[in-house]
Amino acid sequence: MAALIDVARARALVLDWAALLPSEPVGLADALGRVIAEDATSDGDLPPFDSSAMDGYAVSAGPGAELPVVGESRAGHPAGRTLRTGEAMVISTGAQVPAGADAVVPVERTEVVDGRVRVPDAAPGDHVRRAGEDVRAGTLVIRAGTALGPAELGVLAALGRPEVACGRRPRVTVAVTGDELVEPGTPLAPGQIRDSNAYSLSAQAERAGATVVRREVVPDDPEATRRALEAALEESDVVCVSGGVSVGPHDHVKPALIDIGVEEVFWRVALKPGKPTWFGVLGEKLVFGLPGNPVSAMVTFHLFVRPALRRLAGAEPLDTRTNAVLDRRVERQPERDEVVRCRLEARADGWHVEPTKEQGSHVLTSMLGAGAFALVEAGEGAVEAGSSVPIELLF
Ligand code: AMP
Ligand code: MG
Repeated sequence: MAALIDVARARALVLDWAALLPSEPVGLADALGRVIAEDATSDGDLPPFDSSAMDGYAVSAGPGAELPVVGESRAGHPAGRTLRTGEAMVISTGAQVPAGADAVVPVERTEVVDGRVRVPDAAPGDHVRRAGEDVRAGTLVIRAGTALGPAELGVLAALGRPEVACGRRPRVTVAVTGDELVEPGTPLAPGQIRDSNAYSLSAQAERAGATVVRREVVPDDPEATRRALEAALEESDVVCVSGGVSVGPHDHVKPALIDIGVEEVFWRVALKPGKPTWFGVLGEKLVFGLPGNPVSAMVTFHLFVRPALRRLAGAEPLDTRTNAVLDRRVERQPERDEVVRCRLEARADGWHVEPTKEQGSHVLTSMLGAGAFALVEAGEGAVEAGSSVPIELLF
């Protein structure tokens, strides 16, 4: 049997095979979480004109004086005339500073006397937001590969972009295999369990920006497995199969994939949980054979499938690795790196982690409350409590 490959190598191979999907125009209102596929530059200045930062009076800078009030500039309604020296104009926050004015005096520092306004000394630029102070015309504001969050959407709107080119969302099939699986809501017959992987893996795929186009439970039968995988490959950029990738007599996924012509890139990773993970390609389509055990499936999805989905959509790699103090001793595995599901806490001396609970690959609730994976390298002995370990933040 082939040697196990290490996690970093497996990840690198997956990313090597993940080719960018084409981009498509997306309206701003639908673009949350999408990955921008173009560099967004500003066509004009932001703010677009000199505007007032306060409610008050626009003046031309100079010593304190009593001035006639000659008009008003309101937000969205600029004054129709120029301001001359020795005049004041009422102005509101965000309103255009009239030509001839170069300072604003806040209303609370003025006094109205007989229809004239008494203003204090004003220096040029006082309480004026200059055009282009935020963004100058022609500046690169959001780089291609950025995932669009609320701030990016706000900035794109401010720049006047009704739509942007975004990487297409990868289309994903989640196919779970196993004669023992039933849907939640159906009573369990002897020997049956509920299918949880279809739910956790689909949710992980959606979180990673993909669209789940197909979701199905496949019985442990060679012909049914083959048919399901063929259909999945027709419709999807990425196929995630769970279960059936080990070496048992009822594990039909690998032979079916090879039969269909999917080329194996790797099988079996030096990882606990997740050793049986299989990865292959058919043209530009990616196929992941994830272990059936629910924790293994989620961990390997996070380590291998999620980065691939992000790459397909054109996203910059998201590196959430850092270090934390491990608060409980963890035995090392002799031959496999272990991903330990941990609670995460920020303390005065930095991040701390400790295992959520028992770490069996079937203990799905060990994923509850897990804010980080701690990576315990293969070797002899243990990582002692109080040591620093590499972690990957989960979000
Ligand atoms: P397998 O990889 O098919 O040998 O499955 C390994 C273990 O994971 C077995 O105990 C299965 O019953 C369990 N398992 C497989 N698929 C699922 C699933 N979709 N949901 C929950 N448990 C599963
Ligand atoms: Mg199975």
